[in-house]
Amino acid sequence: MPIPTELVGSLPRPLKLQEGYEDLDQGKITFEDLEKLQDEAAEDSIKRLEQTGETYVTDGEQRESSFATYSITDTLAGTGLADNLAGDGQFFAIFDDGHHRQLPRLTGGPFRYKTFASEFVEKNKAIASRPVKQAVISASMMMLLYPLDEELEGYTRAQFLDDVCDEVEKDIRQCFAAGAERVSIDFTEGRLANKNDSRNPWTGKDMLQEFIDLNNRVIDRFSPEERANIGIHTCPGGDNDSVHSKEVPYEKLLSKMFQLNAGYFLIQCASQDDEEEVYRLCGQYSREDADGVPQVCFMGVVNPLSPEVETAEQVRDRLVLAAKHIPVERLGATDDCGFSPFSRDLKPAHGSPDFARDIAMQKITARVEGARMASEELGV
Ligand SMILES: [Zn+2]
Repeated sequence: MPIPTELVGSLPRPLKLQEGYEDLDQGKITFEDLEKLQDEAAEDSIKRLEQTGETYVTDGEQRESSFATYSITDTLAGTGLADNLAGDGQFFAIFDDGHHRQLPRLTGGPFRYKTFASEFVEKNKAIASRPVKQAVISASMMMLLYPLDEELEGYTRAQFLDDVCDEVEKDIRQCFAAGAERVSIDFTEGRLANKNDSRNPWTGKDMLQEFIDLNNRVIDRFSPEERANIGIHTCPGGDNDSVHSKEVPYEKLLSKMFQLNAGYFLIQCASQDDEEEVYRLCGQYSREDADGVPQVCFMGVVNPLSPEVETAEQVRDRLVLAAKHIPVERLGATDDCGFSPFSRDLKPAHGSPDFARDIAMQKITARVEGARMASEELGV
């Protein structure tokens, strides 16, 4: 079988759509007006992705406040926040360029999603002529909504985590039921868990194993056949063309991440200084049998934070090298991250989000072609 390809999930929102989110926050337009802009951008994303030859298409998260918050708020500023949440939660991450992203804070129980990703899948299925994928958020990211060191009165941490697992399971099941063929879980907090950033206390509490165990509580509710199409995405962040945890030694994460009983992984790699070391670690730690399913390593072969477009030959060479360390039947190609995980992202290294959309399509086209060339060279 040729080397499969898959994108992580997000694409830059057109500037017009980004302004629409702000206009909603300022009460200048209605949610229905914003939805029209989202639908327009989503359709454009799907049509353009289909032209790249990408196997699975998505709307590029045009309808989401962010990859982490789509289920609990309509905008990053907190318009349409779900029940029992306040705006002033923990920092999810502080990025290298100094900007940060903050999560809402749980104020009581019960914890419930207000929006499930299946709503996007239903809309996208109506537009797409190719198979549809959907990215969802992890239980471990939702875990950070609960205060770090205290118990909420009347709603224990244990009760909260039970509810989180139920909501994340439902999110995934409903995506499949709505027709998604692949569902990948964003796990960017995995690498951040070893950052020890004193400005962001949760990153100093050695929570990686807790994150993995919690996510497996969800993943283990699915059959091996279902898990073959459930993925995990890891990266050192990608927002406003900046990262949050690239200095954290990758082995700390990769030596544990494959404990997750998922069938495939979308793994940042192209922007690492030593890509071959990442291939080696993935070959060493990924499992042929993760409770009934082989783990396929989709290696990042293009870097969404850089406007420089990789050539198909570069992609081919990366995959051929990766195949020296990872069995080719368990090798795939992806991007290092989503192209814009947050709805407000001006893509400064690119000059504008509209230009970054064009660049994203060129990068995806190169990845698809490079994977085809690598497959030919490797005889698969
Ligand atoms: Zn990412």
